[in-house]
Amino acid sequence: MFRKAGFYAAGGLVWALAGMALQDRPAASVIQIPRMPPPIPVAPPAVPTAAVESAREAVPPSPEPAPVGSRPLHEPATVGSRPTLPAPAPAVSRPNQPAPAAAAPRRGNASSRRNVWVGPIPTAADWAPPEGPVRIALQAGHWRADEAPAELSGLRDNGTGFQGKAEWEVNLEIAERAAKLLQGVGYVVDVLPAVVPPSYRAHLFISIHADGSRDARASGFRVAAPRNDATGRAAGAARLLEQSYADATGIKRLPTVTRRMQNYYAFNFRRYVHALHPMTIGVILETGFLTSASDRSVIVDDPDRAARGIAAAVMAFPITPPPGPAITLADVQLD
Ligand SMILES: [Zn+2]
Repeated sequence: MFRKAGFYAAGGLVWALAGMALQDRPAASVIQIPRMPPPIPVAPPAVPTAAVESAREAVPPSPEPAPVGSRPLHEPATVGSRPTLPAPAPAVSRPNQPAPAAAAPRRGNASSRRNVWVGPIPTAADWAPPEGPVRIALQAGHWRADEAPAELSGLRDNGTGFQGKAEWEVNLEIAERAAKLLQGVGYVVDVLPAVVPPSYRAHLFISIHADGSRDARASGFRVAAPRNDATGRAAGAARLLEQSYADATGIKRLPTVTRRMQNYYAFNFRRYVHALHPMTIGVILETGFLTSASDRSVIVDDPDRAARGIAAAVMAFPITPPPGPAITLADVQLD
């Protein structure tokens, strides 16, 4: 059913972006984090597969089948029931934390019942922009995931890629180029690694990823808003991103999104300390398939196009209008 031939072929392909990634470090407003070497793929994963799954999903498994043939490379298939594993120890100790209101026992391990958000969850009616200038967060998916804290330990095993290129490298390249564009028109931009700061606050957060499939024909990008969006505004940002990313890249949009996108860990402030503040508008973008030659021709070989698609969505979003005078993205030079 799947053609594996060529999937693992390293080949002699020289990646056009190798070595280019960090030459143009963004301005001081970007969080400066030294680049880490990619994780060594030969080490056995420190975390059982089920823990990886649980770190990615905010809700208990449902009978809903995972899309076939379009799994991200780093996410193992979820087929049938999951093995029962011992519950990991809670990662966060908060002695004064009140008992969670919605802690009804359910299947799964103890961590699925944790609720780290203290107090009432604000609603869309409560939403207000954060203090200060318009701040945009671009997360390079899986970047520095090996540094994940215990509560997100399932993220650490993120070792897959395609033809010698790790997904995080592709994500980071696009994120940094989009950051440079946005800084060029006056935004404050944080380029974030896989682990976001606790209760991270910004006007808009975009998580940047790439898909993968055993089927080399699988192609397309997709955008998802959080399944539980307290801001009530993420769907609007997602629609703009769908439009601008399609326009800039020519990659077709896949209408289906995955539960793993909608339940992305960074959106799950109820469960993780290292998550967005509930009033941070967040979306997740799967920029294309690393395993697709046509998608790679953009996201790997021409990441500026992807970056411009992302930056254009930010500028079009009414909550994050360009802070500066009338400069357009076309006026911002990338190298
Ligand atoms: Zn990813």
